[in-house]
Amino acid sequence: MKLDLSEIARIAGSYAETPLDVKLKEVEGMTVTAPVRGTLIASSTGQVLLLEGTVETELEMTCYRCGVLYRQPVHAEFQEDFVVQPPVAHGQPLKIEEEEAPDARLFFPGTLDLNLDELLRQSILVSLPLKPLCAEDCAGLCPTCGARRAEGPCACAPDTTNPQLAVLQQLLQTRQQKK
Ligand SMILES: [Zn+2]
Ligand SMILES: [Zn+2]
Repeated sequence: MKLDLSEIARIAGSYAETPLDVKLKEVEGMTVTAPVRGTLIASSTGQVLLLEGTVETELEMTCYRCGVLYRQPVHAEFQEDFVVQPPVAHGQPLKIEEEEAPDARLFFPGTLDLNLDELLRQSILVSLPLKPLCAEDCAGLCPTCGARRAEGPCACAPDTTNPQLAVLQQLLQTRQQKK
């Protein structure tokens, strides 16, 4: 999705709200299974263009306990500053007010297409759970045969241990494996 923000960027005190409906194929190799929908708010001081907003979507993730692919709902927020670089005057690029927004990216009104997809990808990525679970109470895998417990009992000896303890045990095991 490309946005023309040159008008907003140029006029100090301007503000615009745009509905977002973006189709992303993937984020870091994970399939995006729903459109990325939300709102983008653009405002400008004339020197700094601020983009902020929220989006909702859904991503295919791998459960960290049982390894199954499932759909993870995502709520992402973003906020990004761009220094508005004025057009070249008399062949000399004008100086940028660094102190205005030291970490900001440059934005050249009318000369640069804002890569909104990349901005959305980044914000979705940072909002994903570190330990994705197909279900809050995912019972994981049988430690003996590796079968998914959610799919029913396996042929192994019936597990008489407390399921809560089994989850703990599994957590400990994965921790040890990482060491
Ligand atoms: Zn799971
Ligand atoms: Zn088993």
